[in-house]
Amino acid sequence: MCLFCDIIEGKIPSSKVYENDKILCFNDINPVAPVHVLVVPKKHFDDIRDMAAAEDGVEYMGEVIKAISEVAKIKGLDAGFRVINNCGEDGGQTVMHAHYHVIGGVKLTEKMI
Ligand code: 5GP
Ligand code: ZN
Repeated sequence: MCLFCDIIEGKIPSSKVYENDKILCFNDINPVAPVHVLVVPKKHFDDIRDMAAAEDGVEYMGEVIKAISEVAKIKGLDAGFRVINNCGEDGGQTVMHAHYHVIGGVKLTEKMI
């Protein structure tokens, strides 16, 4: 069982922002900024390494960046935003289905890098 696969299949409700045949984007349940959207491949990959190893991982990654751009447009993030991918235990990943956080709607000041 994977939480995001259940959301993709509609078994668990989500607040959808954008969708196409390969990607689902929905609002994070615990937002850290006025805009906090999760960009999720509809195919299950454990993390970014799993995507890289898969035959169609690069294709999905291309769809991810296009979806990020769509989300930014829909949410009016013209002044910019941040994209975060937590990978694996040390990266702080808590849902083991590859996903990308799009965070914005405010000037982001807390920079690690
Ligand atoms: P991670 O920590 O793996 O990078 O990110 C997982 C994200 O999923 C967290 O920001 C968390 O708030 C979000 N999340 C966890 N469960 C749910 C849920 O049931 N619905 C939604 N919309 N977001 C969730
Ligand atoms: Zn999954």
